[in-house]
Amino acid sequence: MEIKKEDIKFLYSEEELQQKVKEVAAKINARYLDEEVYVICVLKGSVMFTADLVKYLTMPVKMEFIRLSSYGSSTTSSGKVNAVDISLPDLNEKNVLIVEDIIDTGLTAKFLRDFIDNNFRTKKTEFCTLMDKKCFRKTEIEPDYVGFEIDNKFVIGYGLDFDGNYRNLPYIGYVEV
Ligand code: 5GP
Repeated sequence: MEIKKEDIKFLYSEEELQQKVKEVAAKINARYLDEEVYVICVLKGSVMFTADLVKYLTMPVKMEFIRLSSYGSSTTSSGKVNAVDISLPDLNEKNVLIVEDIIDTGLTAKFLRDFIDNNFRTKKTEFCTLMDKKCFRKTEIEPDYVGFEIDNKFVIGYGLDFDGNYRNLPYIGYVEV
């Protein structure tokens, strides 16, 4: 399915996004102070958010990247999470912060939490998401840091795609679903 740029309705500007990223970073800074944190960017969607977020983090940070996919058709979750690349270093006794673009059903977050719990004894594992779409939640996952709570919209831009397109938009827009 294709959409035209004119069909994308405006939601958050570049300035609003940067302001929110700073607010979220301040909470993470207050929580960890000088403790080292392993920031795990869940590709592809959280690439922009993670890149901006880490610039405002003041503790020692190590960045890791994993790639998962869950979306079946353009705007509906397949209900299954595929680990495309989930190679991680030894996270035993480490602070782990998983950064997601959006938590929708929560299946991705649950998959990741189970994966981390099954493979490591971390010091702490937390979730940070730019957007939280609670209306479709199918798991008990509650993110520790949330940028925006949104309702039933399919959001696009700032890393989030529509059929592989529009990840490069510097703002966030949406299409009605
Ligand atoms: P969940 O596993 O929580 O259902 O979905 C997580 C993933 O689905 C997100 O990381 C994102 O890639 C994708 N996703 C969920 N909602 C949206 C949305 O509104 N827009 C886009 N572009 N992707 C979404």
